[in-house]
Amino acid sequence: MQLFDVYPVNDITIVKGSGSHIWDDRGNRYLDFYGGHAVISVGHTHPHYAERISKQLSQIGFYSNSVRMPLQQELAGKLGALSGKDDYQLFLCNSGAEANENAMKLASFHTGRKRIVAFTNAFHGRTSLAVAATDNPSIVAPVNETEHIVFLPYNDTEAVHEYFAGHGQEVAAVIVEAIQGVGGIVVASDDFLRSVRSLCSAHGAVLIADEVQCGYGRTGAFFAADHAGIQADIYTMAKGMGNGFPVGGILIAPHIRPRHGMLGTTFGGNHLACAAALAVLEIMEQESLLRQAADSGQYLMKSLAAIPGILNVRGRGLMIGFETDKAHQGLRKKLLDEYRIFTGTAKPDVIRLLPALNISPEDSECLISAIGKITGS
Ligand code: PLP
Repeated sequence: MQLFDVYPVNDITIVKGSGSHIWDDRGNRYLDFYGGHAVISVGHTHPHYAERISKQLSQIGFYSNSVRMPLQQELAGKLGALSGKDDYQLFLCNSGAEANENAMKLASFHTGRKRIVAFTNAFHGRTSLAVAATDNPSIVAPVNETEHIVFLPYNDTEAVHEYFAGHGQEVAAVIVEAIQGVGGIVVASDDFLRSVRSLCSAHGAVLIADEVQCGYGRTGAFFAADHAGIQADIYTMAKGMGNGFPVGGILIAPHIRPRHGMLGTTFGGNHLACAAALAVLEIMEQESLLRQAADSGQYLMKSLAAIPGILNVRGRGLMIGFETDKAHQGLRKKLLDEYRIFTGTAKPDVIRLLPALNISPEDSECLISAIGKITGS
């Protein structure tokens, strides 16, 4: 049987990982500044992570949500404490798209409304509503097209004010990334996020912060929206939450009340997933990873900005984007081919850095030095 060919792939077979390093089947070592799409948060095969999952697997890997799950409660407690959202409620699922799908559905249940406001260049996933709220017509199938989603220009406070003035009472939710990832590492201004927050409050709409890529400690705060001093009504999470184990979830503000059957999932919140997510949070706490992410990010951004030929360095913590001048368009390929360093891209020509939160100063220096050599500075 053939694989359904939807991914353009590098001709590399990864067989082993440790911390921020991965090895191919020929024994070549690579430095991972991409974390497989921002997923590796505490490093590959972290000993505590591997041990907690293995131990859980030898006890029980899965049972459904029809029985009591103390591990889910433990995860909710730890997540509440580390994110400062003790009074929120947790619903667990398996991926970022699913988290957003559930968030938008919940907002619609809660408000009784249908309209969702999303933003230009947004990426929210590939399931039905999530892809409809994604600003990329090439991945929206005809069946996913809906008039319930409206796109407003990202970071345009006035446009949001104007829209709410005319349609505020119809809006079920606004879904926003505090830093757009797939959209090219674009940071929302504090003023924009605060305005969206106050407009949602004034019109009874639900504010959904899509923190699937920018959240979970990556920017040095637990959620990227925290930097603007706002509280969302729902936070969506996945990627770094399980460090590679498929775990997603939503944090739901206390005023949004549940009812039995409102949301549901077969796999979400299973024993193994909870063990993985708990291990990640324990490592984040023990190794002060939020502070490390902030410090490493500052060093990387400052160093990148000082390299001639590197343009528009932006981001926060370890969510960094930049471009190169025309003379250095092949930088990303050279980093991989000549220096064995993985980085990410975003259209049109953005290089994305999304390493593990505990990337070492030596590994950061290694990237900067490689870029310096390639650009001849
Ligand atoms: N939301 C954001 C901001 C993302 O970056 C992504 C994935 O890149 C998703 C949602 C979808 O997550 P998943 O691929 O786990 O469904």
